[in-house]
Amino acid sequence: MSQTPNHYPANRPPDDDGQRLADEAAGFEVGPDFERFDQRNDIFSRAFWDETVRTDEALEFFRGHGHAFKARTAEGFQQRDFALRNAAWSVADDYADRNRPNGLREGFQDPQEARYPPAEQRLAVADPDAMTAEVKRVARMFGADLVGVTAYDPRWVYATRTDIKTFEAKPNDLPAGLDNVIVMGHGMDYGLVQAYPSALAGAAVGMGYSGEAVTVAQLSQFIRNLGYRAVGSMNDTALVIPLAVQAGLGEYGRNQMVITEEFGPRVRFSKIFTDLPLVHDKPKRFGVTEFCTICQRCADACPPKALPIGPPKVGGANRSAIKGVKKWTADCEKCFGFWTKMRSDCAICMRVCPYNKDFSRPLMRLARRLAGTRLRRVMLWLDIKLGYGERVAPGTWWRGEGKR
Ligand code: SF4
Ligand code: SF4
Repeated sequence: MSQTPNHYPANRPPDDDGQRLADEAAGFEVGPDFERFDQRNDIFSRAFWDETVRTDEALEFFRGHGHAFKARTAEGFQQRDFALRNAAWSVADDYADRNRPNGLREGFQDPQEARYPPAEQRLAVADPDAMTAEVKRVARMFGADLVGVTAYDPRWVYATRTDIKTFEAKPNDLPAGLDNVIVMGHGMDYGLVQAYPSALAGAAVGMGYSGEAVTVAQLSQFIRNLGYRAVGSMNDTALVIPLAVQAGLGEYGRNQMVITEEFGPRVRFSKIFTDLPLVHDKPKRFGVTEFCTICQRCADACPPKALPIGPPKVGGANRSAIKGVKKWTADCEKCFGFWTKMRSDCAICMRVCPYNKDFSRPLMRLARRLAGTRLRRVMLWLDIKLGYGERVAPGTWWRGEGKR
């Protein structure tokens, strides 16, 4: 057994019954070999330092996110498709680039830099319940679609960050005492996701990231203006998926995504670490784990077969998998290898998921409810029979049509 400083459960009291109960509610099984994740091992960081991932195709993939994309004749990969995708990313890219000369890549390897420090005068919070409701209202006003609050959980905080100049590990300098985490969900466009795989569909991801960048900047500054500390974070600093599950925003699925009641898997997540007094939400279950147990549409549809079949297991195929957590784990090398061959991101596993529906429709809400009952096999059969999850031609989106 490893004795590194990151080793779990050495980083929490051994008799933490509350932690165990929270894990059960969230569906996590964290074992004795758990180690916190080094961000340097995520597949996007590895693409810059690991020669097995840093292929010519990978470098071409990243260059294509600027203006140096190579349009093709295939529908969904033409100039207008890349133009839209890259424009959708442009706000998130601006944040990522604004402090690059200082060795920071905000939102991806480093948190957002504060516009202004906390106000000297601190607002007294007599009623954390009321404050939590206010913060959630403000988060929605700034553009969040979903908002939950959970406790700071050191297990999901990166053991180290990635230095973007050397791509070596550097300390994760998240300040101590930020005991609350506000987790926000940013819904993705249903019509665009139906067009995966395509550069056009990648605009849904770009919109998510750009929207996150703005919402996180505004909400964290609002909290600082109240006199409290707030660190705004996107993909940096900590794994957001377990935090989103703990904050009650959804359940973890076989496709590695948080499946939400509101958007299914079509959500991106961001977070803010703060010492503003807030109350915590609880994990919420609505039958996803049981449904994923009988369904493997995502795994079957994945072109490089990067998703697992069968029950959750501990560990994964390579160093991009977190150690010591029993869960469904993708082979990120296979997944990212497919992205680079396409020169655009893939989310076929999001598109085909039976929870990828327009839940503004009462019929889809009924289907979601039945999927959480013993009728789940019937619902899965119906989903396939009715053609949900099939790719919609990208030209359909450009003409303003699509399947609901
Ligand atoms: S994103 Fe595409 S390649 Fe990656 S796991 Fe999903 S379906 Fe497979
Ligand atoms: S496609 Fe099926 S197995 Fe995969 S995440 Fe969705 S419900 Fe779960």
